[in-house]
Amino acid sequence: MRINIHAGHNPDGKVACGAVGLIKESTEARKVVKEVISLLEKKGHTVYECTCNNGTSQADVLKKVVSKSNLHKVELDISVHFNAGRNDLKGDGKIAGCEVLVYSDSSKAVKYATNVTRSF
Ligand SMILES: [Zn+2]
Repeated sequence: MRINIHAGHNPDGKVACGAVGLIKESTEARKVVKEVISLLEKKGHTVYECTCNNGTSQADVLKKVVSKSNLHKVELDISVHFNAGRNDLKGDGKIAGCEVLVYSDSSKAVKYATNVTRSF
């Protein structure tokens, strides 16, 4: 399978770097992207890293991610984010859940999205 993947935001410290608080979303998303690429490539998939590292605004980050993504004809596009599931400042180790968004209910990505949510 051919897959695009990106860490949804600019690097930490730049505009549009995502959430900063309990974790730095941009930093953690990049770690996930790197690991997911490694795992997918070991399974024989072709993976394109489409992360933006030099956006000048939120809109520019999105524009650059879309431009990179549109260079490849793929079956799946993945954008990695860390959205707040709950406010857990003490860090009790309980998983707060996850969400996976798909473009439409008839998308081929639904089966992959379902598998991701079932793993939590
Ligand atoms: Zn995000």
